[in-house]
Amino acid sequence: MSKKIQAPRGTYDVLPDLAGERAGLESTAGKILGRAGYGRIETPTFEATQLFSRTVGEATDVVQKEMYTFQDGSGDSITLRPEGTAPAVRAYLEHGKHKDPQPVKYWYMSQFFRYERPQAGRFRQFWQIGAEAIGSADPAVDAEVILLLSEILEAIGARDVKLVLATLGQPESRAAYREELKQYLRAHEDQLSEEVKSRIDLNPLRAFDAKHESTQRVMANAPRLIDRLPQEDLDHFAEVQDLLTAADLAYTVDTTLVRGLDYYTRTLFEFQSGALEAAQNTLGGGGRYDGLAEQIGGQPTPGMGWAAGVERMLMASTQPTPVEPPVGLYVAYEPGHKTAAFKLASDARRAGHSTRLELAGRSLKGQLKQASRSGARYVAIFGDEGVQLRDRDGGEDKLVAPETVMHHIRGSL
Ligand code: AMP
Repeated sequence: MSKKIQAPRGTYDVLPDLAGERAGLESTAGKILGRAGYGRIETPTFEATQLFSRTVGEATDVVQKEMYTFQDGSGDSITLRPEGTAPAVRAYLEHGKHKDPQPVKYWYMSQFFRYERPQAGRFRQFWQIGAEAIGSADPAVDAEVILLLSEILEAIGARDVKLVLATLGQPESRAAYREELKQYLRAHEDQLSEEVKSRIDLNPLRAFDAKHESTQRVMANAPRLIDRLPQEDLDHFAEVQDLLTAADLAYTVDTTLVRGLDYYTRTLFEFQSGALEAAQNTLGGGGRYDGLAEQIGGQPTPGMGWAAGVERMLMASTQPTPVEPPVGLYVAYEPGHKTAAFKLASDARRAGHSTRLELAGRSLKGQLKQASRSGARYVAIFGDEGVQLRDRDGGEDKLVAPETVMHHIRGSL
């Protein structure tokens, strides 16, 4: 026998039990985002590699190690999308949406791909729900976008959720700060982990994220970006905080928060859950990306959004799985009556009843066992005498003509 083929590591199948939960989450998110004016979009599963390398950042883990990149038949470099913000902005630009009233609001639930080490809450193909508001720099956009994710997490009963906020300012102040931080890191090089040391030039900010103890000690005294930001950025951040407070949303500010994507400017945030393991406890996060449109050849266009992991939201959720609609009718038959039984089952479904038909050639006894297992209210048994109709909620069996079965069950299902 040949070797059994299995799904690739870090991927999983969505079987029907799981599909129900996911559909529940999708519909909750769609309702909350829809009433705030977000329209659903779906962009291609693959994009030109440059869309991500220019925006997510050449030096990030996502671009350096995690992208599924390949050449297609015409020699173009293609990447399976690792995230949804750059594609959403690309679509906005490509379709001239700057002409619409701003901001333009999109949401999505799509699958993304990153070559990561598979573990609980971390996959190589995973799903995210995301929201993007493109075309306005107003701090009210930031606050609204953050509130929407909070509302979704509340609606699914996500446990032990905490909102963490930060601000990154604009690229210019960040660049000056980066230089200062690099110098500080170089001055303490002997105490840093090898990884942090090797990336001082590429990505000094990631040093705040290090788990290495003596690196952490060095970082506790490192210069902070928030102390170097111009007043304009601080005012923007203060207004975001005021609006969140006005909406009764609690948060903490963490000036060392970093996220793995380079395109962020100004507001940055994460919702974490204490119900998940510390290494993968971020349910979702995002921020402002005012420079992204220019990085992909568009006019300067501010934007703000987030993405939240579907798998992690379901892990943290306490919302019960939506129940399947109950089966109304089970159609069983004796030998020789299959066609009539088939016809009734299809009529009943067309009339909107949840119906099951015997499909595996079981004996009548076996069929009746299946009927009771399905929980069906009615069982119609086709035989030589006609149709015996059983109401499993009580009452005598009735012998009825095949064409009257629908008439008998209508009204009570
Ligand atoms: P990011 O796009 O990196 O900002 O991630 C946003 C959210 O997507 C995270 O908080 C996770 O909930 C989820 N996520 C990111 N990467 C993965 C992954 N490899 N597997 C599962 N979920 C992920």
